[in-house]
Amino acid sequence: MDNAKTEAYFSLFERLIDSMTAPDRFVREEFIGILSEICELFHIAKGVTEFYRSISAERTGDGEVLVDYDNGRGEKVVMFRRIVTPSMSVIKSTLYMAEEEEPLSEENYYRIDLILRAMLSFVSRNRLQNLVERFSFYDDDGYPNLNYFMRHLDKMNEKGGIPGNTAIHFNLRHFTLINREIGKQTGDIVMRRYFDQMSRLIGDKGVVCRVGGDNFTAIFRSELLQSVLFVTEGFPVVYDNERGKRVMVSASVGVFVIPDGFRYEKPAEIIGKIFPVGQEAKFSPDTNIVYYTEENDVRKERIMKVQSLFAEAMDNDEFRAYYQPKVDIETGRIVGAEALCRWVRDGKIIPPIEFIPVLEQSTDICRLDFRMLDLVCRDIRRRLDAGSPVVRVSVNLSRKHLIDVDLLEHLLKIIDDNRVPHEYIELELTETTTDVEFRDLKRIVGDLRREGIHTTVDDFGIGYSSLNLIREIPWDVLKLDRCFLPADSDAEDVNTALMFSHVVSMAQAMGLECVAEGVETHGHIELLKKNNCRIAQGFYFDRPLPSEEFERRLDSHGYDV
Ligand code: C2E
Ligand code: MG
Ligand code: MG
Repeated sequence: MDNAKTEAYFSLFERLIDSMTAPDRFVREEFIGILSEICELFHIAKGVTEFYRSISAERTGDGEVLVDYDNGRGEKVVMFRRIVTPSMSVIKSTLYMAEEEEPLSEENYYRIDLILRAMLSFVSRNRLQNLVERFSFYDDDGYPNLNYFMRHLDKMNEKGGIPGNTAIHFNLRHFTLINREIGKQTGDIVMRRYFDQMSRLIGDKGVVCRVGGDNFTAIFRSELLQSVLFVTEGFPVVYDNERGKRVMVSASVGVFVIPDGFRYEKPAEIIGKIFPVGQEAKFSPDTNIVYYTEENDVRKERIMKVQSLFAEAMDNDEFRAYYQPKVDIETGRIVGAEALCRWVRDGKIIPPIEFIPVLEQSTDICRLDFRMLDLVCRDIRRRLDAGSPVVRVSVNLSRKHLIDVDLLEHLLKIIDDNRVPHEYIELELTETTTDVEFRDLKRIVGDLRREGIHTTVDDFGIGYSSLNLIREIPWDVLKLDRCFLPADSDAEDVNTALMFSHVVSMAQAMGLECVAEGVETHGHIELLKKNNCRIAQGFYFDRPLPSEEFERRLDSHGYDV
C-alpha cells in the first residue's frame, strides 16, 4: 500500500472511531458515509450487516438486514464476521468484492478486519442500548408501558413536579365485545386511535401508557382532567374512513388528583392508589369514575385484614350457616331455606358484604362455600338421624367455582360423605356475562340435575339478565331479585309490578319454580298471590336465623299468612 493510501486509511479509521465514540451524539449518516469511503478505498463492492434478536431468530432468518454500501458489483465474499453478544443476539457482517478484483493483500486484510471488528462491537453495543430501551419501555405493540410510566414519574419528581398533576388508570369498556364485533385487527386500530387521541389531548403536559390488554395509565396537569374525562366518557373512533364507520369507545377510570404537599417516595405509591380505584370503577355497576380518597387506604387495610384472618377463621370454625326460611304463602309452611354465611368473631357477627367480595378476589371463596355446604349437610344429617322434619336447603356458590373442572366431584363428596339425599340440596348461582362462563354454567347445572341436585338462578333481574340464560340452562328454580318488588307497597309502581307478573308467568311456563326474594310487606304478599308466585323469602317472615332458631321454626307450625 502506498503512503497516500496508508494515510487515507489512518484518517478514515480515526474519523470512524470519533464518530462511534462521540460522547454527545451519534450521527448515523456520518457513520455510514465513513464506512462507504473505507469500502471504496479497499475496493470493497458491498457491505452487509445483519442483526438478529436471538440465535433462533437467526435460524429462522427473522432479523434486520442493513446494506451499508453497495456499488452493484459485489459477487465474491471476501470477509465474514459473526458475533454473539452477551444477551445472545447475533450480529454478522459480510464484505464482497467484484469477481475481477485482485485479492486483498495480507496487510489490507488485517486492516479491514480491524475496522470490521471495531464496528461490530460498536454496533452491538449501540443496538443493545436501543433494544433495551425498546424492550423495557415499550410493549410488543409499540405502546409505552408501565416502566415508561414509572420512569416518567421519577423524572417529574426530580424536578419537584408531581403535585398539581392528576394520575389515572383506565380500562376500555366492552373491548372484548368491540373486538368480536369488528374483528381483532380492526380492534387494534381502534385502540391505537383512541390512544392517539388521548396522547394528543395530553400533549407535552403528561404521558399515557398501556399497562397490559386494554388497561392504561396516564399522568397530566390537573387542568386537563375534565377534557380527559370527556374522552373516557365516550369518544367516537373512526375505523373505516371510506365508509365512515365508527365505534364509540369509553373507559372506566380511577382518578388520583395529586394534592399539594404530596410526598413522593417512589412510583409504586401513585400506582398503588390509581390501580385499586380503577378496578373499582371497572366493576362498579353505577359509575364510570372513582376518585381516590384517604378512605380507600382504610378500605384496603380492611381487605388485607380479611385476607390475612381467613385461614385462621376457618380453622377456628368462625363461619356459621344462618338459615332464612322460604315460605309457601298459601299455607304458611316452611318449604325450604337459604343458608347464608355469618362470620362470628370475638362475639360479633360480621355480615357477608364485609368479607364475601374480598374472598371472591381469590379462590378463598370456594373454600368457604364448601365449608357452608358441609355445615348445611351436617345439620340436615343430624335432623334426619333424629327423625325431625327436614326441608331442602340452598347454598350459594360463587361464580369462581366455574373454572373448577372437578366441581361436581367436590360437591358430591361433601354431600355423600354426610349421607344426605340429593333432593335436600339446592345450589344458587348468579347470572354470568361471558360466553366462557355460560358454557361452564350450562355444563355444571346439567351435571347437577343428573345427580338430582336442584339449581337456582340467584338474583335474577339485576345485572345483565339474559333470557338465553334461562332458556338454555336446565335450572329448577328462578329466584327473582327484590328489585322486582315495588319499593313501597303503597306507591303505584305499575311498571315494576308489571315486570314481576310477566317474569313469573314466563318462568312458570318454562317449568321453573319461582321464589321471590326480599319480601318485606303485606303489599308484596298480595302481589305474589295475585301472580300465583307461591314461594317467598324475606324479612316479612324472618331474617336469616341461627340454626337452633331456624329449627325451632321448622318444628312449629309455620307462619300465619
Ligand atoms: P343472596 O344470595 O341474594 O342472599 C339474599 C340476601 O338478601 C341476604 O343477605 C339476605 O339476608 C337478604 N335479604 C333477605 N330477605 C330480605 C328482605 O326482605 N329485605 C332485604 N333488604 N334483604 C333481604 P346477606 O345474608 O347479607 O347476604 C348477601 C349476599 O352475600 C348473598 O346474597 C350472597 O350473594 C352472598 N353470600 C352470603 N352467604 C354466602 C355464601 O356462603 N357463599 C357465597 N358465595 N355467597 C354468600
Ligand atoms: Mg342466594
Ligand atoms: Mg339473591
